[in-house]
Amino acid sequence: MDTEEFQIWSRRAADWGVAYRDTLRERPVRPSTRPGEIAARIASSAPEQAEPMETIFADFERDIVPGMTHWQHPRFFAYFPANAAPVSVVAEYLVSAMAAQCMLWQTSPAATELEIRVIDWLRQALGLPDGFSGVIQDSASSATLSAVLVMRERALDWAGNRAGLSGQPRLRIYCSDQVHTSIDRAIWVSGIGEENLVRVPTGGRWRSMQPAALEAAIEADRAAGFLPAGIIASVGGTSVGGTDDIAAVAAIAGRHDLYLHVDAAWAGSAMICPEFRHFWAGVEAADSVVFNPHKWLGAQFDCSIHFVRDPESLVRTLAIKPEYLKTHGKDGVVNFSEWTVPLGRRFRALKLWFLLRAHGLEGLRAMIRDHVRWSENLAARLAGQPGIEIVTEPMLSLFSFRHQAGDETRNDEHNLALVSAINDDGRIYLTQTRVDGRVAIRFHAGQFEATEADVDMAFDVITEIAGRMTGQGGQ
Ligand code: PLP
Repeated sequence: MDTEEFQIWSRRAADWGVAYRDTLRERPVRPSTRPGEIAARIASSAPEQAEPMETIFADFERDIVPGMTHWQHPRFFAYFPANAAPVSVVAEYLVSAMAAQCMLWQTSPAATELEIRVIDWLRQALGLPDGFSGVIQDSASSATLSAVLVMRERALDWAGNRAGLSGQPRLRIYCSDQVHTSIDRAIWVSGIGEENLVRVPTGGRWRSMQPAALEAAIEADRAAGFLPAGIIASVGGTSVGGTDDIAAVAAIAGRHDLYLHVDAAWAGSAMICPEFRHFWAGVEAADSVVFNPHKWLGAQFDCSIHFVRDPESLVRTLAIKPEYLKTHGKDGVVNFSEWTVPLGRRFRALKLWFLLRAHGLEGLRAMIRDHVRWSENLAARLAGQPGIEIVTEPMLSLFSFRHQAGDETRNDEHNLALVSAINDDGRIYLTQTRVDGRVAIRFHAGQFEATEADVDMAFDVITEIAGRMTGQGGQ
């Protein structure tokens, strides 16, 4: 591709992106493709000879786009969002063009220094004290893995990396049954083992770990010869927003000298609004906190912020310095690859800098407040509908509901069929979960470009399809 072609296709790609985003409401949120259908249209081996860009681009539009789930669709209410504000897309074009590898300060000084700045902007925006510094990771899963590795090394007096776990006391990590599966995987990968992840019973409106049960578990483990290493607390769990009492958990962590990691991957974005910070009151005592601006804030995926109170313990756990990575004469600079498992790093700070400046914190707060209000209103409207039960009240902008099948024994089956019929309809996209063993349907408003009318359409679609399936009629 020569310079002239690069220009033509860069412009075509940008124009395509603008038209795509502009027409999202006209598309079904989820494609109706069957497994294997797309792969069958793609050549089974790479071409030996170069093909014209016109052909490649036409194939992209014909074979790929119709098979995409549209994550930026304003009526994507499934999972959690992966918001990419248009301004962060623009920043990513620039990052793609520079294609820098930002592993060390000297491999991209501006990327490192901007990263330090925007992390501190976010620390202030979230109301975290100035003792926290941080790093941008690809995902909350990576941040949690790093935190668990620090828990392991700290508890083993920094011997785990060198000597392995054999012959060491058995470590224990504590969490609730509401945490994301990234916690399980961190426990597997760190070698600590699933058996040593202690699930503390939850209770109360936000399904919080019961502090007395947590403390009793730690004491019983110590008495039985285990080595408690850390606690992972949740603020805004994936299923229904399970949230621990961080102040109570932090006090226990302090009493037992345990490392405390807080997973606020989704809900953390809402902490830019002071009125929602009660959900993580006490977080200033945590050792490590993760939140994903790529979920709710609008920073194009991927972008996960890992705050730590003591970066030294992270660096002590993860840094490795062969001669080819040494930065002679650059003492005192931050080399962010020493804070993470991967060595290579994308330039992720630029999209945050563009996003925060183009929208301002007030603009982003207004979006989050709208989402929370629209979800609360929708939950209240659905609660008034025949056969609809609100299973979990809105935690920020996430709630769950269930529709009665008529025959109680068929409820799970009926709600799975309902969510499937809603998604096949294409106007909105929802996902299901299980609450106390029974199927419930999640609703979450969080799309960057959603309007109240989009959330109203969710009400119409849910009541219309549920009514049709049970012959009750909606509204
Ligand atoms: N923690 C919570 C509460 C989540 O909801 C998710 C993903 O949805 C994760 C962690 C994992 O996030 P990531 O995909 O960034 O690893």
